[in-house]
Amino acid sequence: MMDIKKVGIVGAGQMGIGIAIVCARAGYAVYLMDAKPEQLDVAREAIAASLDRSVNRGWMKEGDAANAFARIETGTDFAGFHDCQLAIEAAVENEGIKKEILKQLWPVLPKDAIITTNTSTLSITRLAAQTDRPGRFIGTHFMNPVPRMGLVELIRGIATEEDTYRIVHDFAKHLGKTPISAEDFPAFVVHRILMPMVNEAIYTLYEGVGSVESIDTAMRLGTHHPMGPLELADFIGLDTCLGIMQTLHDGLADSKYRPCPLLVKYVEAGWLGRKTGRGFYDYSGDKPIPTR
Ligand code: NAD
Repeated sequence: MMDIKKVGIVGAGQMGIGIAIVCARAGYAVYLMDAKPEQLDVAREAIAASLDRSVNRGWMKEGDAANAFARIETGTDFAGFHDCQLAIEAAVENEGIKKEILKQLWPVLPKDAIITTNTSTLSITRLAAQTDRPGRFIGTHFMNPVPRMGLVELIRGIATEEDTYRIVHDFAKHLGKTPISAEDFPAFVVHRILMPMVNEAIYTLYEGVGSVESIDTAMRLGTHHPMGPLELADFIGLDTCLGIMQTLHDGLADSKYRPCPLLVKYVEAGWLGRKTGRGFYDYSGDKPIPTR
């Protein structure tokens, strides 16, 4: 069994930062790479702030947090991947960009290194085909925020070898996560179930069955969900929700995955949820106010 000592991560956005934190906390050396140097400054600040919070809340000793921070190197080039046993691609959800990254990544890595992708929607098999090692390629779908969420979906492409699965499964456990196995179908398990529910909540609003408040209250109190589906859609980002519904609709060719026209309209209006200050709620005041 291969011994993972150093993990390389492509993309220092929301997910790359979270993955770097959990890897460093678990004792791995980390190389965090982003095309934008200014994003690496943001990442270093976010990592330091997250480790500080863990110390202040008593979850980590100060010395352990300092050691974790010291394990993370950052850079803008692929050279830093040359001694990584595992590379995790966590750049933007754009197939063209991911393919370009993979083409530049594999020649730098050791021959037997494993490559994973954090894609939420793209075909693992198709991405694996961009590399010289489809057998050592697998999907690792971490959840946001990575330090808090316990799940990692492991998605085998058609060529993924059993050994690759086992190594990455053990790696995920070592990070303190619970891995589940999913097949390489559009949106895997979590989003395949979650997004049609969110989309249905938007149809429920669109058809006037309930208001934003009644739909979210119904699902929070009636089904014990910690967040209502519309609140959750705003948190995820309505553009992301629409993208996943389109992937399901195109990939499975079933009309039951048709994105709700109201979701399309909100995205066209630039009302993308929390990140733009408006979605199914208005976030400009102290408290989110339902917009319908
Ligand atoms: P993000 O936009 O916050 O970060 C992406 C980063 O990739 C940016 O910092 C960008 O500069 C960098 N990047 C772009 N092109 C690059 C290149 N050629 N080389 C190196 N870096 C490059 O995105 P995110 O939310 O962190 O998502 C990353 C991946 O994780 C996506 O595939 C997404 O679908 C997936 N994902 C996201 C979530 C979520 O809730 N945000 C959850 C699970 C999975």
